[in-house]
Amino acid sequence: MNNEKLFLGARKRVRETDAIIIGGGATGAGLARDLSRRGFECVLFERGDLATGATGRNHGRRHRGARYAVTDQVSAEECVKENSILRKIARHCVEETDGLFITLPEDDLEYQKNFIVACRAAGISAEALDPEFAKRLEPSANQTLIGAVKVPDGVVDPFRLTVANMLDAVSHGALCHTYCEVTGILVENAVATGVRVRDNLSREEYEVRAKVVINASGIWGGRVGAMAGVEVKMFPTRGSLLILGHRLNRLVINRCRKPADADILVPGDTVCLIGTTSIPIKFEEIDTTVSDREEVDILIREGALLCPEIETARKIRCYCGSRPLIADENDKTGRSTSRHIVLLDHETRDGLKGFVTISGGKLITYRLMAEMTTDLVCRKLGKNVPCDTHSVPLPGSHEPPDKILRKIAPLPPTIKAAIVHRHGDMATDIAAEGASATSLVCECELVSAAEVEHAVDTLAVRNMTDLRRRVRVGMGPCQGELCMSRAVGILADKGVCPPSGCPGELASFLVERWKGIHPLTWGETLRESEFIMWLYQGVCGIGPSDLEPGRVPGEAPGEAASTETPPGAPPG
Ligand SMILES: Cc1cc2nc3c(=O)[nH]c(=O)nc-3n(C[C@H](O)[C@H](O)[C@H](O)COP(=O)(O)OP(=O)(O)OC[C@H]3O[C@@H](n4cnc5c(N)ncnc54)[C@H](O)[C@@H]3O)c2cc1C
Repeated sequence: MNNEKLFLGARKRVRETDAIIIGGGATGAGLARDLSRRGFECVLFERGDLATGATGRNHGRRHRGARYAVTDQVSAEECVKENSILRKIARHCVEETDGLFITLPEDDLEYQKNFIVACRAAGISAEALDPEFAKRLEPSANQTLIGAVKVPDGVVDPFRLTVANMLDAVSHGALCHTYCEVTGILVENAVATGVRVRDNLSREEYEVRAKVVINASGIWGGRVGAMAGVEVKMFPTRGSLLILGHRLNRLVINRCRKPADADILVPGDTVCLIGTTSIPIKFEEIDTTVSDREEVDILIREGALLCPEIETARKIRCYCGSRPLIADENDKTGRSTSRHIVLLDHETRDGLKGFVTISGGKLITYRLMAEMTTDLVCRKLGKNVPCDTHSVPLPGSHEPPDKILRKIAPLPPTIKAAIVHRHGDMATDIAAEGASATSLVCECELVSAAEVEHAVDTLAVRNMTDLRRRVRVGMGPCQGELCMSRAVGILADKGVCPPSGCPGELASFLVERWKGIHPLTWGETLRESEFIMWLYQGVCGIGPSDLEPGRVPGEAPGEAASTETPPGAPPG
């Protein structure tokens, strides 16, 4: 597979295709993979970068469904099935951690009993542990716990997962158009015949025709539905998550009670995160909503009940996302709204042919959502090809890490482990890059110059924020203190931005990062952010005045003229 050629070629324009996918989250990328593997031509349009919606703004938890076992059996069963598939097909994107559901003195032990029964009914193995044993197993958990249940749990990197799906799709002929926004649906005689698109990089507008148009735009699904004249009632809620400076826990720690604020602590890469809140917001706020200090207080206060160290641990940033939930009139907070998958065939529902919406579900069920939608497209277009995405590994996941480690060129063991962790078997290309494979750009995440070059060459990186999503540069404990100035030099060498554009790139990156730091600006976090500011502004002379006039941080260069606010940056 030649990723470079395929990804760069992906901006190739077509006038007509079989299927158009609106949205480049995990669901859209999974759909592109499934459709293309079953022989359909398809084009994916994403208004920002891949995984800039809910996909890049969640816990990254690969739950076995235990969290929903008591309250939402359908979701729990979907999670169980997909979890074991993901372990097989996406091993470089997942980490097995197991999970612990703890009961505190103020909780009801009766809930734990029901929880175990519900888990087993959904096919989830749930083992009640002796509390003393549980405390030794996870020393970071609140040591006053009176009950604990161990479940098979894990974490998934949503960025890697989305990119791996898209790479496979592109290698099967799909086109991936990031920074291309669908601004209208073409409807003729009650048939959706295509879309109107605005290229957010070149500002060009054009139309593409298709036999089927698929709305996989997450929480924006209502807006896209309205473009086609159909109602898709979404329920936007803001969920905030707080990132802590290092991994406090080994297992995912959950509170064993009905889902509530700040009851999940998830370890991931070099950090861990506590979430989430659930605050209903207005639809118009989806693109601009940010976490506030009150939520940060809740996350720290409630989180410290799970793991007391949260109170004193270094806090890096806070970010938020909105789940793509279909509205339930009776649920005022969104906590009880089912997370199960909703596939709407607008032909049978609204009399509009050729238009389909896929929504609801979770990150962990993205593949199943794609399979269900592709099955529907097969029925509509009279094709009978079975799905194989449950059995064929994603690019990067063909070989186990130990085998890849043995195969790749000699490198310092830590760098070698980091690239295999992030790229799986695709790490061989990076390791072969000689001197640049050992020259570090980011010390926290052990990102080498070769890894940055590889991302720019093959993974559709258009700015520093895209680079962060691909290789985690600037996402680690130092949050980009020095690594970003090294990385931007490589971007300029590779022609992503002109050398004169580097200060603007850096300023844009810093201002974007500031959004997540802002709700935490006290104590150490304030001191650190002042230090980063001093480094970039005082030493390098770079500041907000270097921002391209009108450019919204996190946008690609040239996007400044955009009249609508594009998606911001996801976690890190
Ligand atoms: C706080 C929080 C925590 C969560 N935790 C977990 C978890 O631990 N585990 C789990 O499995 N799930 C979790 N989820 C749920 C999970 O994140 C989502 O269900 C999943 O990521 C949805 O993916 P998606 O592709 O359907 O939508 P999105 O990722 O939202 O993708 C939709 C995309 O459509 C694009 N788009 C919108 N309009 C247009 C347009 N007009 N033209 C082109 N593109 C457009 C957007 O930019 C966006 O990138 C969580 C969600 C939240 C908010």
